[in-house]
Amino acid sequence: MFKKVLIANRGEIALRIQRACRELGIKSVVVYSEADREAKYVRLADEAVCIGPAPSAQSYLSMPAIIATAEVTDAEAIHPGYGFLSENADFAERVERSGFTFIGPTADSIRLMGDKVSAKQAMIRAGVPCVPGSEGALPEDPKEIIKIARSVGYPVIIKAAGGGGGRGMRVVHTEAALVHAVQTTRAEAGAAFGNPEVYMEKFLENPRHVEIQVLADTHKNAVWLGERDCSMQRRHQKIIEEAPAPGIPRRIIEKVGDRCAAACKKMGYRGAGTFEFLYENGEFYFIEMNTRVQVEHPVTELVTGIDIVQQQIKIAAGEKLPFTQRQIEMRGHAIECRINAEDPVKFVPSPGRITMWHAPGGPGVRVDSHAYTNYFVPPNYDSMIGKIIVHGDTREQALARMRIALSETVVEGIQTNIPLHRELMADAKFIEGGTSIHYLEGWMAAHKR
Ligand code: ADP
Repeated sequence: MFKKVLIANRGEIALRIQRACRELGIKSVVVYSEADREAKYVRLADEAVCIGPAPSAQSYLSMPAIIATAEVTDAEAIHPGYGFLSENADFAERVERSGFTFIGPTADSIRLMGDKVSAKQAMIRAGVPCVPGSEGALPEDPKEIIKIARSVGYPVIIKAAGGGGGRGMRVVHTEAALVHAVQTTRAEAGAAFGNPEVYMEKFLENPRHVEIQVLADTHKNAVWLGERDCSMQRRHQKIIEEAPAPGIPRRIIEKVGDRCAAACKKMGYRGAGTFEFLYENGEFYFIEMNTRVQVEHPVTELVTGIDIVQQQIKIAAGEKLPFTQRQIEMRGHAIECRINAEDPVKFVPSPGRITMWHAPGGPGVRVDSHAYTNYFVPPNYDSMIGKIIVHGDTREQALARMRIALSETVVEGIQTNIPLHRELMADAKFIEGGTSIHYLEGWMAAHKR
């Protein structure tokens, strides 16, 4: 096992990784920007090194600064967390070439999944169900494009091969609008992602977002750890996640889960990963794979009892998965609410000093956050300041625990989305379960937000 791991991230996930290291008896080095100098998790780390000013490009995205820090601190491995450099194949390659272990999949796997066209083709080969659409990137010829759209059937969605974070997509309802939409998406994708390739999919009108968590080791073992329903989204940003997904028959999920684990073995995938699907009318449709730990991983940890971050580290150290698929059991129900520093009505970030922070507690309540009273939320990064995660024997109990946890939570000095979460936990449709990815936006419009 490693003696020292460098954490190339910030905020709650830096703290989460630090805790996993500590439990494994590994020393951790945290890198931080000038904007995070005061943060408590920086002081809690065994070692902390300031790598640059606030802008991410000069700190959390600076590969030379991170690798140089690993060198001077004698770290053996680098955990990239999520966001920042976590899905950057060049970074993974540079880390390994510099003699360190990248805690994640190979650069080749990251590259394959980072290009959505090649990812989808790999999934089709591996027998993972995909959204019907163009076989690969769309051709230049407008007549060909029209032909493909006719065979897929309207509405269709044009997506950038290099897209991410909900950007680079356009829905097309009619043939008249098609060619222009393809051209515009291509131009935007070229400018935004440096890759003008686009592809086409059938646009699903009312799907749910359901994803499968996987773990694969370097000894040809791969398992899936159940699913997460992340349909509560606003502008493609998830805000509530839960496991298991309410109301979906287990046999349907088991079939797709087994396919995901088999795909990992076929691709020689290693580490943690998530297969994201849209789910509609009893069918799963692959949309993309994330080759890193996800924000919402705790809901899976609570229902399976498996520490995903520790497993990532153990896999990177060459250990075998300590369980087989049959040994993985799901118990109860877990829900996560992402706490964002933002104006709950206008949805603009609300950085600043937290004058009072009181986190909830009690049976089945977990809080993953780096915030505290007097913590200054810098304006430079993502607005998420933590996550409240609850576990109960049933979904009903988990909902009740989340309501209590939210009522206990106090955050003063900045604005947060906690009032929104409180309302959603009392919403009849959400309580019923199984709402689509469009539900929250409709709800906001109905509530005049
Ligand atoms: P990104 O990498 O930008 O997150 P995804 O491919 O994961 O892109 O898609 C993001 C979101 O866009 C999905 O969660 C869903 O809301 C919507 N979306 C993507 N593909 C489709 C589709 N074929 N039909 C309907 N909605 C889609």
